Amino acid sequence: MHIQHFIDGKFVNSLSGKTFETVNPATGEIIATVSEGEKEDAALAVAAAHRAFEEGPWPRMRPAERAAILRKIADGIDKRREEIAQYESRDMGKPIREALNFDLPRVAHNFRFFGEFAEVGHTETFDRKTDLMYVLREPAGVAALITPWNFPLMLATWKVAPCLAFGNTCVLKPAEQSPITASLLAEVAAEAGLPPGVLNVLHGFGPDAAGEAIVTDPRVQMISFTGETATGKAIMKAGSDTLKRVSFELGGKSASIVFEDADLD
Ligand code: NAD
Repeated sequence: MHIQHFIDGKFVNSLSGKTFETVNPATGEIIATVSEGEKEDAALAVAAAHRAFEEGPWPRMRPAERAAILRKIADGIDKRREEIAQYESRDMGKPIREALNFDLPRVAHNFRFFGEFAEVGHTETFDRKTDLMYVLREPAGVAALITPWNFPLMLATWKVAPCLAFGNTCVLKPAEQSPITASLLAEVAAEAGLPPGVLNVLHGFGPDAAGEAIVTDPRVQMISFTGETATGKAIMKAGSDTLKRVSFELGGKSASIVFEDADLD
């Protein structure tokens, strides 16, 4: 299996042709080669998202029109639930029952929930009798969405769904340990009629690589990141030159290794 980037509505290799491997952590088996994105690939992905935001239909559609496409994505995920859950389990090592019964239903729900939320939650009014004030939520632009390996597609869609529901476009950089399901999401989104460039998936590593390139690109307006606290600090520093808005979910306490001498009782 070979996993490519999804840029401007097309699956493409890295410009350099470089790849890396993703393994099933339960067996050590190599399950896919993955295109390894670098600065030049990141620039193409951001350019596609930027074009889709500045010139494309997505930010100009009514929230209800966007919600209809997000519901189709949810339906597409439900249809491929077993297949996607199998890949998630093999790519990052979680039990299939968890991927199938927790992650995947939530993935679909994220698209239905945020689509609907954007339909009703895009404005607020405050009537003070003497004057009427209102809050109008407008899309920010291109978002860099960077995710870890522990809930790969659940966390990715937790970012992608609200980002798209409110009319933004994005570059999703999934964790290098668990890249497969982000590309399956791109397939489902394209089939659901998401316009090219609205969701771009860029594979690769963080420092001095795909991740760093998108968080330093001046065309990116905001960053949503889940992962290590130290990575969050590096991303905040990197984004500060261009005053990017950041949304972080950092730290963690989830044990992922059980040693032979663990007292399981
Ligand atoms: P990580 O911070 O190493 O990597 C996460 C992502 O950031 C990956 O996609 C990686 O490629 C990218 N990245 C790394 N350096 C970067 C840089 N300089 N610029 C841009 N992108 C960069 O985290 P990890 O070890 O993969 O993930 C797991 C961590 O996330 C754990 O500590 C876990 O507990 C935590 N986590 C926390 C929560 C929470 O609720 N707070 C939820 C999920 C995971």
